[in-house]
Amino acid sequence: MNFGTSRASAIENLNRFVDQNLFEYSRLRNFDYGPDNRSNISCLSPYITHGVISELEVIKKSLSKFSFFKNEKFIQEVLWRTYWKGWLELRPNVWTDYLNELKKVREEFKDNQNYKDAIEGNTNIECFNEWIKELKETNYLHNHARMWFASIWIFTLDLPWQLGAEFFMKHLYDGDAASNTLGWRWVAGIQTKGKNYLASEWNIKKFTNNRFSNIKLNENAPPKVFEKTYTIIKQDFNNPQNIEDKNLLIFENNLSFEITDFQNNKFKKIYLISNKNENRSLKLSEKVVKFKSLLIEDQEQRLKAKSIDCKVIDINEIKKIENCYALYPTVGENLDYLNLNNIKIDFLYRKLDQYSWQYCNKGFFNFKNYIPKIISLLKVSS
Ligand SMILES: Cc1cc2nc3c(=O)[nH]c(=O)nc-3n(C[C@H](O)[C@H](O)[C@H](O)COP(=O)(O)OP(=O)(O)OC[C@H]3O[C@@H](n4cnc5c(N)ncnc54)[C@H](O)[C@@H]3O)c2cc1C
Repeated sequence: MNFGTSRASAIENLNRFVDQNLFEYSRLRNFDYGPDNRSNISCLSPYITHGVISELEVIKKSLSKFSFFKNEKFIQEVLWRTYWKGWLELRPNVWTDYLNELKKVREEFKDNQNYKDAIEGNTNIECFNEWIKELKETNYLHNHARMWFASIWIFTLDLPWQLGAEFFMKHLYDGDAASNTLGWRWVAGIQTKGKNYLASEWNIKKFTNNRFSNIKLNENAPPKVFEKTYTIIKQDFNNPQNIEDKNLLIFENNLSFEITDFQNNKFKKIYLISNKNENRSLKLSEKVVKFKSLLIEDQEQRLKAKSIDCKVIDINEIKKIENCYALYPTVGENLDYLNLNNIKIDFLYRKLDQYSWQYCNKGFFNFKNYIPKIISLLKVSS
């Protein structure tokens, strides 16, 4: 597993996965064979999260190999991300509440020995300790391992999910406000109320090819209870009628301007926004900060190679930029920065998000029905 920090690496990984492994994806995707064998899944999330490659690009490439029906599972997985994003966009308070609850539990658990043992990988659960090590070393975990990890954290180690979600964001190269927060809520049983995900010894053994033994877990815990319900905040996500010749801000979620819907619009100058830890509620590890910086630099170089005027600036410098649009940063740290500092900017939304987010009012099983429509509206074909 090699997460090179360029669009070229992302494309190379995408092509290799589609050519060699996509055909077995739906059969093998749930197996976690360990960090040295990740060929059964795409490992594209660190790139898609940062917009280095887009969901549509990935889907298009997969459709160049197989028909929609042969590919349905993979396409559904790719669009889970879009669904989670839309779900959170319609209920942004879930994110703000998460950050507020986190502040409280951080204080409560700052001297808690079980918490300290967990994040150091010193528990008596061997597989969990391995995943802690793997996460810190590779900054990635298989989806199934994320589910087991979160379940053990919440139901066997009895730690608050908010701290686990923070720990993931610190170390994951693909750390994403929507997929991560909602993934943890889902495991805890508060996303789909009353339905928690319980990791079990047989399931871990089977899907890790018996790499672990002695897995004593709490396999019967009830779901966590969270009384608050969130009503949908209706929003338009409309773009301006005429996109004028202004400056453009690009945050860390859209690091391939050349494939965006706005690639043919004229902008005076593009500013690539770097958001270091100083302005984040969830502090990132040094490796994750570096990963983001290198992806931003790669975008800068590609823009310069096309003679597009651009510059990397720190998020604190946004206040000085007048007359600008921004590619929409989505609910998370960058949008929080703009809101907290009362910075008003006209956002430009992706067509994929405009088409998809309207179907995120209910569950994913409902959303899934609209996938063929979304794909055909966006004219994604090989
Ligand atoms: C507790 C928990 C926390 C998570 N935190 C994050 C996170 O911070 N960032 C993140 O990108 N994903 C997160 N996920 C979702 C998922 O685990 C990863 O997207 C996936 O493991 C990435 O590996 P891959 O690219 O090899 O996936 P593949 O199986 O190859 O799937 C292809 C693409 O589909 C999307 N995808 C697949 N599964 C999911 C899913 N369950 N939810 C959303 N998108 C999905 C990803 O963009 C992925 O790159 C989390 C899941 C759980 C259970």
